[in-house]
Amino acid sequence: MDFHIPQKTQELLDQVRTFVEQQLYPIEADAVGKTFRELLPTLEAKRDRVRKLGLFIPQISKEHGGVGLSFLDYAMLCEEMARSPYGNYVFNAQAPDAGNMQILIQFGTAMQKKRFLGPLLRGEIRSCFSMTEPDRPGSNPTWLETTAVRDGDAYVINGHKWFTSSADGASFAVVMCVTDPDAQRHDRASQIIVPTDTPGFQLVRNIPCMGHAGDDWASHAEIRYENCRVPLANRLGDEGAGFAIAQSRLGPGRIHHCMRWIGIAERSFEMMCRRAAAREVAPAEPLASCQSVENWIADSRAEIDAARLMTLHAAWKIDQTGARSARTEISTIKFFVAGVMLKVVDRAIQAHGALGISDDTVLSTFYRNERAARIYDGPDEVHRSLVARQVLKQYASQ
Ligand SMILES: Cc1cc2nc3c(=O)[nH]c(=O)nc-3n(C[C@H](O)[C@H](O)[C@H](O)COP(=O)(O)OP(=O)(O)OC[C@H]3O[C@@H](n4cnc5c(N)ncnc54)[C@H](O)[C@@H]3O)c2cc1C
Repeated sequence: MDFHIPQKTQELLDQVRTFVEQQLYPIEADAVGKTFRELLPTLEAKRDRVRKLGLFIPQISKEHGGVGLSFLDYAMLCEEMARSPYGNYVFNAQAPDAGNMQILIQFGTAMQKKRFLGPLLRGEIRSCFSMTEPDRPGSNPTWLETTAVRDGDAYVINGHKWFTSSADGASFAVVMCVTDPDAQRHDRASQIIVPTDTPGFQLVRNIPCMGHAGDDWASHAEIRYENCRVPLANRLGDEGAGFAIAQSRLGPGRIHHCMRWIGIAERSFEMMCRRAAAREVAPAEPLASCQSVENWIADSRAEIDAARLMTLHAAWKIDQTGARSARTEISTIKFFVAGVMLKVVDRAIQAHGALGISDDTVLSTFYRNERAARIYDGPDEVHRSLVARQVLKQYASQ
């Protein structure tokens, strides 16, 4: 077991840490009260800097114009980028585009790569992933209502989706549609690329969440697909392979989410420690001298370290034996790390008192945006159930 981080990787992590601290932290205060669209010129200028540093799309191989990092190195980089809410976006490594890039590289045809992947990699367009429906349980993605029916050389898509993140301003959606309702559960759906200017693509609204409807990349849309006609050539992979493609995207994606959450937890932890050391509850009596605050600090340190080790171990296992055999580890970190991150952010807010819930620090943004971590990409309960079933298998055989 070697916990040593190679020098080259450490230098890259330091470089990204410095960039995020110097270039992105100042944007956070400036962003209060602004829409995401109003921030775009600033964020585009930062993207240009990232391009010049040769760090754009760090999750992508050199062959496709990225940095060409190993899975483990990229996982560590996710932590650094996520210390600011703008980090992933500025490096063009944000969800849902990063997942769409991955499946287009893996399953896309030459036409799909040229028309959709190329501009996405270059950061010229954005995309979204449209699977969850208001009238079906998102935690069971094999049970969907949206259909794609063949008509000559086209599919005609009808359905109602919601929580399609970042649809506002996206150029295309990857839509999960039922193409064969009579097939086996896991073979019913296909993923189909729908340009958002297709007649019948209707963005109903950006759904207000925690008091903010958001806009552009920072939003979650309700969408109706009404007789949307797209060429058969817009299907990703084989007909019926939609669920398998979704799984191939979600496994590695969960590692990236977990490392992103660790970045958020680590930044919140540092803010909590600074506040505890600097704030006096009485003359010459720092907040840090209160035992409950010591407990928050000690517990947070232990939990973040455990979360990071578990996540890096899962990433290592994916590297060694593939995502399928690391299913239990991936489910374990999905609920564990989300919980750790939310606890640490909450403690940091508590340590800041009223300042913690104000928008004068980034903590309120973390709190508002990240509660969803226990719901998307599989709610906690679904992952806990998978882990428990795997564990119990051994006992059943005894
Ligand atoms: C911020 C955010 C962004 C999102 N982005 C996208 C996106 O870009 N594209 C997209 O397609 N979807 C997206 N989603 C949707 C997300 O994937 C779903 O919300 C998620 O899969 C849960 O589905 P649901 O909301 O329908 O909840 P349901 O499936 O109705 O589940 C509700 C609750 O029931 C419980 N539950 C469900 N199943 C079980 C079970 N088997 N055992 C025990 N308890 C259970 C859980 O507590 C769960 O939270 C996003 C969601 C959020 C909050």
